[in-house]
Amino acid sequence: MERQSAWTRWDATAREKISAFCERYRCFLSQYKTERKFIQGCISLAREHGYQPLEACDRLKPGDKIYRANRNKQLILCQLGQQPLSLGGHLIAAHVDSPRLDLKTSPLYEEDNLALLKTYYYGGIKKYQWLNLPLALYGTVVLKNGEKKEICLGEKPEEPVFTITDLLPHLAKDQMKKTIEDGFPGENLNILVGSLPEPGKEKEPVRNYLLRWMKEEWGISEEDFVSSEFEAVPAGAARDLGLDRSMILGYGQDDRVCAYSCFLALLHTGPTEKSSFCLLVDQEEIGSSGVTSAQSSFFQTFVEELLEKTGSGLKEKRLFFENSKAISADVAAGLDPSYRDVYDPRNAARLGFGIVLERTTGARGKSGSTEPTAEYLAYLRNIFDKHQVCWQTGELGKVEQGGGGTVATYFARLNIDTADCGVPVLSMHSPFEVTSKADIYSAFQGYQAFYQEE
Ligand code: MN
Ligand code: MN
Repeated sequence: MERQSAWTRWDATAREKISAFCERYRCFLSQYKTERKFIQGCISLAREHGYQPLEACDRLKPGDKIYRANRNKQLILCQLGQQPLSLGGHLIAAHVDSPRLDLKTSPLYEEDNLALLKTYYYGGIKKYQWLNLPLALYGTVVLKNGEKKEICLGEKPEEPVFTITDLLPHLAKDQMKKTIEDGFPGENLNILVGSLPEPGKEKEPVRNYLLRWMKEEWGISEEDFVSSEFEAVPAGAARDLGLDRSMILGYGQDDRVCAYSCFLALLHTGPTEKSSFCLLVDQEEIGSSGVTSAQSSFFQTFVEELLEKTGSGLKEKRLFFENSKAISADVAAGLDPSYRDVYDPRNAARLGFGIVLERTTGARGKSGSTEPTAEYLAYLRNIFDKHQVCWQTGELGKVEQGGGGTVATYFARLNIDTADCGVPVLSMHSPFEVTSKADIYSAFQGYQAFYQEE
C-alpha cells in the first residue's frame, strides 16, 4: 500500500497551525505530569469551554456540555447531540496514567550515611532507562483527619531534584555480564534524597534530619506515607525535538498525547447529531483493574444518570451501547530505524505519516486483541478520508515479537464497536518518549471528524 508523509500534504499556513497546536500540547504535557494533575488541567479547561458538572444539572437538553470526575483520577466529558441517546453516541477513550516510579509504603531509609526512598515501578519499564536522571516528586498525602497535602518538588529550576544512581563502569565488570533483566533489579531503584546529618543524633542521623524536614516543610510524619501517593517522574518540561523541530520529546506521552488530542477535539466540536463522549481513564498501565480504571462501572453510572436527566428510560441503556461507536485512543509503536528487525516494515506505523488505525494489538495468535469488524474499519477510514485526515495503518511489531493491550476491550464487551486508533511513538514507556507533530495534529483532526460524523 502506498504511503505518504503527512508533511508533504501541508502548505506553510497549515504547518504554522500545527506548530501552534503542538506548542499548546507541549505546555499542557509539561504542566500536568501525573494522572491527578492531568485530570485537574482538563477540568479547568473544560469549564472555560462551558462544561458543567453533571451533578449540578437537573434536566439536560441537546447541546448541553457536562462532565463528571471520579476521585480526581478519571473524567468523562459529554456534549449532548440532537438525537436521543438510544440512537448511540461517539466515544473516545484514552488513559492518563503513565509509567513511573511510585514510593513504597515505608520508603525512607538510611544506609552508609545517605538517605534513600524505596520505589515500586508502575507499568512496564526497562529499568535501566530510569537511572541517572533528574527526577521530580509529586505527592498527594491524606492525613487521618482527611486533610490533603499536595506536594510537587523538582520542576522549578531553583528547586532540588532527585536521582537513582548507577554503578560506575570501573566497578561494573560483573554487572556488564548480566542480562539487562538481571543487571538492574527492581529493588535497586532507590531514590537518593539526602546526606545531611541531624545534629546530636547518633542513630540514623540523615534519616532523622529528613523526618524533621518533612514535618516542618510538608507537615507530614512517616506514618502518613501509608495514605499517600508519591510518584517520581523525569524532571523538567517536554521539548521540541530535531533541527527542524518536527517532533516532541517528553515524559508521559503514552497516553497523554491521545488524551490531549481527543479532549481538545471534543472542546472544538460544534453542535452534532449524535452525542459525543471523551473518557479519560486511569490505571491502564497496570491492567485497568482499579476503581478509576476503564473497568470501573463509573462510565455506566454516568450513562444512567444521563438517560434519567434527558428524560429517557433506563432500558435504553443497552440500545445506547449497541448503537454507539468507540475509538480506543492509545499510542502505537512507531517504526524505529535502529531496531527494524522487530517490525514488519510493510505494516508498521511511521512517525509523521498520520494517525494510526490498528486492527490488532494482541500477541501471537492475536491473543487479547479486540478485533474490530471489517465493517467498522470501513466506517472509520471513510470518515478519515472524507475529512482529509492523514492516517495510516499499524501493528505492534512482528507477529511473534510483541503484543500489548489497550482499554478497547472494556468498551467492546459492552457491545460497542471499538477500534484502536492513536499516535505512533518512539521510545515508548521510556522517561522521554518521541512523537511527531504531524501525527499529534492528525489525531486531533481524526478524533474531531469522528465526533462530527452523523
Ligand atoms: Mn497506552
Ligand atoms: Mn503504555
